[in-house]
Amino acid sequence: MVDIMRIGIVGAGLGGLLAGALLSKSHEVVVFEKLPFLGGRFTNLEYEGFQLTTGALHMIPHGNDGYLAQALRKAGANVKIVNSEPDGTFLVNEKEYLYKELFSLLGFKEKAKAIALATKLKLGKVDENISFGEFLEDVDLALKVGNAFTGWALSLTAYETPMSEIIEIAKNYHKFGGPGIPIGGCKAVIDEHSRIIKNNNGRIIKEYEVKRIETDEKAYIDDYEFDVVVSNISPVETQKLCNIKFLKSKPKPSKGIKISIATKEGIIKHSGVLFTPECERINGLNQVTNVDKSLAPEGWHLVMTHQTQLTNNIKKEIDLGLEDIENLFKGKDYRILHIQSYRDDWPVNHASNGTDIDNIVNDKLYLVGDGAKGRGGIEVEGIAMGVLKVVEHINNVLNAKTK
Ligand code: FAD
Repeated sequence: MVDIMRIGIVGAGLGGLLAGALLSKSHEVVVFEKLPFLGGRFTNLEYEGFQLTTGALHMIPHGNDGYLAQALRKAGANVKIVNSEPDGTFLVNEKEYLYKELFSLLGFKEKAKAIALATKLKLGKVDENISFGEFLEDVDLALKVGNAFTGWALSLTAYETPMSEIIEIAKNYHKFGGPGIPIGGCKAVIDEHSRIIKNNNGRIIKEYEVKRIETDEKAYIDDYEFDVVVSNISPVETQKLCNIKFLKSKPKPSKGIKISIATKEGIIKHSGVLFTPECERINGLNQVTNVDKSLAPEGWHLVMTHQTQLTNNIKKEIDLGLEDIENLFKGKDYRILHIQSYRDDWPVNHASNGTDIDNIVNDKLYLVGDGAKGRGGIEVEGIAMGVLKVVEHINNVLNAKTK
């Protein structure tokens, strides 16, 4: 039996709401959100009948089997996630290949090297202290494919991605498989969280910007007193508002650009990711309407591209992305709906993989969300790993200490 605690949550992004949904089962929860809408970078943004998003590409990295799906089931959320089939294909020399077919594109020596790399990665027999780029650099195509994957999934180049993270990501991939698409898009996930919190008598206060977090005998969000505070606003922003300094290292944010495209004809035949290792900037794209037609007006497809931001010249980065799109669509109909760049205060990741901070600051203050992701957790999967750790700590370790 868990003792009821008063828990204040700062921020109603995916991390704060998932924590709220799970914790409100046994505790009194109040969520504070500065914006007039919930979900932060993981909700829909309707435009001309297309369900664009505030950030995410309507994809859950390990689909219906990963950490987020498990946490959703634990919370009692009713969200249908359709696993992608195949996970992805790779566009090389204008032809699409499955991952295993890529080896056939290599000459004898390179193929032997590439098979050795893939085997080492699968067995985890790799130097953890190098970057993914260094690991792949002997095989040109492998490096390009690696860059497309890390650019799409982590908004990092392969050289910026620590091998230690790739090893954990590979383990998760072998355990859970590839991505999936939630029916109704990101907002379906967010709506379920807020329904659960309200059903459990939790409160969500919108348009309330928290200015102060204090942890002492009790924990405070401005003048509200709680037993525990959970912060979803990133480690750096949390420390700025907090009476204690806890950051020993500074997480490194990652930057990216997302372009949303309307097309009648469509460009992808499957429900996975089309990785584009040969593009100048675009790392990959998806066509989520292959799974959920409601994400676009009748007769239309919604395609979203993602690219990591390589230089600080945003205009040039966007122009190079648009040139890639022109080449990819070559002769097909398409219309650019929306171009979004993510950097500074609203990055793709507050902490790029490998620079995340531990979730538990002390018994009164916890971090969830991007910036406090679990190891090897891609985006919302990492967020779910962190939230599950916090919930477990509050319900079991902390509860036992207070008895
Ligand atoms: P946020 O979404 O940033 O939420 C934080 C919340 O806190 C916000 O609502 C904010 O308004 C609120 N807040 C901030 N300060 C205060 C304050 N002082 N008081 C009260 N409230 C405050 N992930 C995937 O899994 N799949 C994808 O396909 C995917 N694609 C992506 C594509 C792009 C272009 C981007 C940008 C991200 C993508 N991600 C994807 C990542 C994913 O969207 C984020 O990791 C996730 O949404 C972050 O959730 P969060 O809860 O950590 O933070």
